[in-house]
Amino acid sequence: MLKLSRRLQKIADYVTAGSRVADIGSDHAMLPVYLLQIDKCPTAIAGELNLGPYEAAKKQGAAAGMTARLTVRQGDGLNVLQPGEADTVTIAGMGGSLMSDILEAGHAAGKLEGVVELVLQPNVGEEVVREWLLKHNWYLAAESILEEDGKIYEVMHAIRVSDAKARNSELYDGSFLKVKLAADKLFGVLKQMGPYLLREPQPVLFKKWRHELNKLERICDQLGGSDLAESASKREQFQAEMNVIEEVLQCLPMDKP
Ligand code: SAM
Repeated sequence: MLKLSRRLQKIADYVTAGSRVADIGSDHAMLPVYLLQIDKCPTAIAGELNLGPYEAAKKQGAAAGMTARLTVRQGDGLNVLQPGEADTVTIAGMGGSLMSDILEAGHAAGKLEGVVELVLQPNVGEEVVREWLLKHNWYLAAESILEEDGKIYEVMHAIRVSDAKARNSELYDGSFLKVKLAADKLFGVLKQMGPYLLREPQPVLFKKWRHELNKLERICDQLGGSDLAESASKREQFQAEMNVIEEVLQCLPMDKP
């Protein structure tokens, strides 16, 4: 039995038992092989763009004796899928923009037809993924944040439900945050920092955003050394963003580290 990292385990936990899973950008295919080994999924597809990881996925499936239940396909994003072939799509370990591009292209090609669940773990750019989910009426049912080997990861679980729009608009209503910000700014904050993560904040959330604030501060310092008008306006924009994040962190109900 494979032992997953905490990050991959969290993704596996979100997958609904009994669903046919397609793991896109599967690399070593650890996730689908594990899901088959514990019999959480009857069948799985591992999709990979690049030859090396595609070969690694095939090897992993064979070593685990799963070739009858695991199909490994080489191709770009959701192109490896036929509509109706999977109930759950997992995509993990890549940037949020690439992930959204894969989802957008797959959606346009009808590859998400029949898919009722997405489990997504962007390494960066979580906001772009939440925006994609909102735009396409996927309800964000849960999200998690965790730290492993010095890196902080967010995992999102989205489902297809008929009242996604209404549920999302309730979820993304930021009035629970006791800060003096306009509704559209609050909406932006929730997309950026996570609507569930802000409702039940954990120390790791503070750690992530303190780190982001430090990065923004360093950028502002560098921009401060430039005489260009463009740099000054960028610096102002970052400063305003930092103020909002700072204000939100201050208002969160928890023991700060
Ligand atoms: N999903 C695994 C995980 O989370 O541990 C592997 C993540 S690995 C860092 C990202 C993988 O995505 C790489 O193996 C890469 O080849 C693959 N990849 C990148 N772009 C892709 C695309 N457009 N379609 C399919 N796979 C892609």
